[in-house]
Amino acid sequence: MEDCLFCKISAGEMDTDFVYQDDQVVVFEDINPQAPVHLLIVPKKHIADLNNLQPADNELIGHIYQVAKKMAAEYDIAESGYRLVSNCGDDGCQSVYHIHFHLLGGRKLQWPPG
Ligand code: 5GP
Ligand code: ZN
Repeated sequence: MEDCLFCKISAGEMDTDFVYQDDQVVVFEDINPQAPVHLLIVPKKHIADLNNLQPADNELIGHIYQVAKKMAAEYDIAESGYRLVSNCGDDGCQSVYHIHFHLLGGRKLQWPPG
């Protein structure tokens, strides 16, 4: 995916500081944080959005949740609470079409979302 920003970032081509990485995912701080903790958990595999998720990706998605749990503990928001969210499509306000999960915490988040 030549023109995909998160493919470039996850491949290490953008000089991004990763706060975590392994063979399947990278994690970095959102450039426009919406909470004191706002991390993006991004698979190295290009999947455009949730609509393109395949059954073969189930292990990857489970892994992402395990990474989210680990990052929440590392950023000391495990007990106070946090949100893990993946926006999909226009109404979901997705802006980067490479699936990713926002980990948000460090303040009281609102529900329902705007
Ligand atoms: P989406 O709107 O697709 O759910 O989330 C995309 C997120 O990526 C946004 O929160 C946006 O601030 C973040 N973002 C976009 N470009 C960059 C970038 O170059 N670096 C970082 N760290 N975050 C980015
Ligand atoms: Zn991509």
